[in-house]
Amino acid sequence: MASSPTASLATQTDVLIVGAGPAGLTLAAGLTQLGVDHVLIERADAVQPGAKAAFVQPGALEYLDRVGVADRLVAAGIRGRHFSVHDGARTLLRGSYDNLDTPFPMMLLVSQQTTEEHLHRRLTELGGMVHRRHKLITFSPDFPGVTAAVAAPDGSVRAVYARYLIGADGVHSRVRSTAGIAFPGKTREQLFALADVRLEPGSASALLEDTTFFFSSEGMLLTSPLADGQHRVVASVPPGSKAPTAEETETLLATRGPRQGGPKAVEVITASTYHVQERVAERLSDGPVFLLGDAAHTHSPAGGQGMNTGIQDAGNLAWKLHAVLTGLAPESLLDTYHGERHPVASGLVAFTSQITSLATMRDPELCQRRNDTIAAAAKAPGITDWLARRLSQLDISYATECATEPADGTYHVGQRVSPTLVPAAGLDWNLALPNPSTGPTGSGRIGPVNFQFVDGLETPLLIRPDGYLAAHGVPTDPHTVLANLASYLPGGPT
Ligand SMILES: Cc1cc2nc3c(=O)[nH]c(=O)nc-3n(C[C@H](O)[C@H](O)[C@H](O)COP(=O)(O)OP(=O)(O)OC[C@H]3O[C@@H](n4cnc5c(N)ncnc54)[C@H](O)[C@@H]3O)c2cc1C
Repeated sequence: MASSPTASLATQTDVLIVGAGPAGLTLAAGLTQLGVDHVLIERADAVQPGAKAAFVQPGALEYLDRVGVADRLVAAGIRGRHFSVHDGARTLLRGSYDNLDTPFPMMLLVSQQTTEEHLHRRLTELGGMVHRRHKLITFSPDFPGVTAAVAAPDGSVRAVYARYLIGADGVHSRVRSTAGIAFPGKTREQLFALADVRLEPGSASALLEDTTFFFSSEGMLLTSPLADGQHRVVASVPPGSKAPTAEETETLLATRGPRQGGPKAVEVITASTYHVQERVAERLSDGPVFLLGDAAHTHSPAGGQGMNTGIQDAGNLAWKLHAVLTGLAPESLLDTYHGERHPVASGLVAFTSQITSLATMRDPELCQRRNDTIAAAAKAPGITDWLARRLSQLDISYATECATEPADGTYHVGQRVSPTLVPAAGLDWNLALPNPSTGPTGSGRIGPVNFQFVDGLETPLLIRPDGYLAAHGVPTDPHTVLANLASYLPGGPT
């Protein structure tokens, strides 16, 4: 059981989560929903404001729906639909999320602070809590788990034994460094400036209503509407530049942006500069220690992917921890966390790195070639839809065939099954049965297995609690499926 909101720090737990950012909060909410004993510690005393993730992608929304957070986030945000690439006034590419096969065909524009607040609220509703102002100092092996030293708000240091330790403690992860897990990669030399601004009403060109990359000889510019009537402006800037003022933001928009309309920035809400780091932890787990979110991978914010990936790391790990801790699965199931999520993290770093390199090219001849190639590619059938699937993170697949889309309607084990075909069932296993022409139909639940009859299915599908296919052609009797659940686990007997 999760700690109650008034509980003091436990001295032992099944799972100790370090860090209550989006990744740690999502994991804690999932574990609380599943009834897994855990402790979540966070060194900060409250959710931190600041300009961080501004988009929640459909892939993350589908998981957040399983833990009961998606609808309230959608209500709090703005449904972004389009993304574009421009070279000055020339439109090179315009894509849309409209054709995505998901209940959430949108890049949801909502601040990271709001996302964390909703996750925290949901965690509390479910009976979980965050131990704020508690900082992990270090930990040491204590077979089969670890003993962690945690500094409490009164300055005392408490020992917490945990069977599993989760580093959701961000890019400078103490868990990762104490575990001795390398974080190879590079820091890009290019400096970027970010400003969240309020524009003068009526001064924003229609172009600024899409999430838009502008290429120009002065450098790249990214603009996006945000919730609360703000706009985000990100630009490559010369070394030594300071956080942009309203005037400087206007200049960036005027010289690199839509050129017409001259949007006026009346207020800078927050501004900063940053260097992009591109790194993936060598291993996402080491014995009882697991890394997720920015502790495991960091990359350019271009494409709005980082927080979303951390949320899905949590989705991948929560049900596996539950299955192992309840004896449903052998310990080896936890090895599949690294096996499944490390390639996703590496692919993501490569993808966002390509976007950053393309966007920051300066050689005029190469820029011309880039622009012509993008414009020609955008006209090819399916290209903008492919890009939308990539950005939305709906193309993530753990299938060994590397297939991301069902071929001829047939799913491979490890592929995502769209909730538009089989409605999600919280964090239950989900047995989807073809609708019989005669006989009983309906839905129900036996232990952790939800079953439902679904129109248009040719064969029964067994879907993992995180929405990926565990097996097809399974028996139609939910009791038999439950009795054999261990045989449908990834990495287990097939
Ligand atoms: C400018 C900018 C723009 C971005 N835009 C996007 C975007 O549009 N879309 C997107 O998906 N992502 C975006 N990101 C990335 C996103 O912000 C991160 O990926 C996300 O915050 C990572 O979440 P996390 O939970 O892994 O880590 P964090 O959010 O870093 O949370 C880690 C938590 O751990 C706590 N902690 C650290 N050490 C300890 C310790 N020793 N003990 C206890 N607690 C500890 C910290 O206080 C923190 O609360 C952006 C980032 C930046 C900087």
